[in-house]
Amino acid sequence: MFVSSNLSINEKGNLAIGGVDTVDLAKQYGTPLYVFDEDLIRTHCRQFKNSMDKYYGGEGLVCYASKAFCCKEMLRIVNDENCGADVVSIGELYTAMSVNFPAEKICYHGNNKTPEELELALDYGVGRIVVDNEIELELLNKIAGEKGKKVNVLLRITPGIDAHTHDFIKTGKIDSKFGMTIEFGTAMNGVKKALSLENIVLEGIHCHIGSQIFQIDPFEHAGEVMLTFISDVKKECGYELKTMNLGGGFGIMYTEEDSPVAYDLYMKKVSDVVKAKAQELGVNLPYIIIEPGRSVVAPAGITLYTVGGIKDIPTARKYVSVDGGMTDNIRYALYQSKYDFIIANKANQPKDDNVTIAGRCCESGDLLGENVPLQKAEVSDILAVCATGAYNYSMSNNYNRVRKPAVVMVKDGNSRVVVRRETVEDIIRCDI
Ligand SMILES: *Cc1c(COP(=O)(O)O)cnc(C)c1O
Repeated sequence: MFVSSNLSINEKGNLAIGGVDTVDLAKQYGTPLYVFDEDLIRTHCRQFKNSMDKYYGGEGLVCYASKAFCCKEMLRIVNDENCGADVVSIGELYTAMSVNFPAEKICYHGNNKTPEELELALDYGVGRIVVDNEIELELLNKIAGEKGKKVNVLLRITPGIDAHTHDFIKTGKIDSKFGMTIEFGTAMNGVKKALSLENIVLEGIHCHIGSQIFQIDPFEHAGEVMLTFISDVKKECGYELKTMNLGGGFGIMYTEEDSPVAYDLYMKKVSDVVKAKAQELGVNLPYIIIEPGRSVVAPAGITLYTVGGIKDIPTARKYVSVDGGMTDNIRYALYQSKYDFIIANKANQPKDDNVTIAGRCCESGDLLGENVPLQKAEVSDILAVCATGAYNYSMSNNYNRVRKPAVVMVKDGNSRVVVRRETVEDIIRCDI
């Protein structure tokens, strides 16, 4: 009945997350409020990690893609679960540094990293820089030289797999701002370039084929394409790449229309394919890295709002306005993503209304959902949006100078603030 296993209805008929009453949480901390279930985050980390140990056998690392939800407490949890972390900006790196996240377990991504970012990454000793292109290779080589360091690198490869259309493009144009395509020899040239640069240590290759993917075969296919490239490099350059990073993108359930695959099935199937292919090609079984983001955190989080205005336009639709919107969840405005909505204080009642959920910003497009089933809403009700743990807080913004909500975690029936609510002082903090 709920999209996430951590949601339930308690004896008061209220929605609970991790056993904690969401109406109480809204009362205690105010709304809008992000709430995460710590145990479910930990469970997901373990599912990925255990599946890798169990099925792959060889060595590997689960690297949480911190862009999905990044704050100090999240990275402490990820580290505690023996996972690594991906970062894509100086802000994410700095967050990791602030909790002494082990540098060797950090991957630094991005298609246009600045010299400032690369310098900080080198100073902190980031374990793997995922280099996007030859220009960046040269820049990194130069910065490393100035610091008298050698830098460990994965090259971002575009394997030509479109996981969403399920169309495995073998030839023709490959349109992505990220990485080097195998197709035109760009990737092979990148390898040769990396091998020629004295401060670059080429450890392996990386790819990330998309997000919210529900099939396993695109991942299997990516594994095959990447291994074939490792074999080609071995033949052409006499150099064996040690590490293969297959990225993230594992799908989750936002609404009942979604049918995600059990997390451990990915590693099971991908392991089989990779092992068989490595043997066939005569290359060593690579050190494997996967980078789940959404799948770790999205189902663990919800957002709570207070219902304000309700506007029923008989010839059009019924708007239910909440005290947040595109400032804390921009995903509907960006790409019409679907969510499951529940009136938290009426969770045991049927959803016999059909409404549009509107945010509070001065934008007609500031909506959280249209044409969604909901219990009969009244002013002051608490509206819960499910599976908002990924790409919500991390994409939150101060449009209209709206303050960012607090983030609360629940565990063992208790709750605690892990990111405090912004104040109006925070809003003007950088103003001169
Ligand atoms: C976004 C991203 C991820 C995580 O993707 P999810 O869909 O959240 O699992 C992993 N690796 C890279 C390089 C990414 O850009």
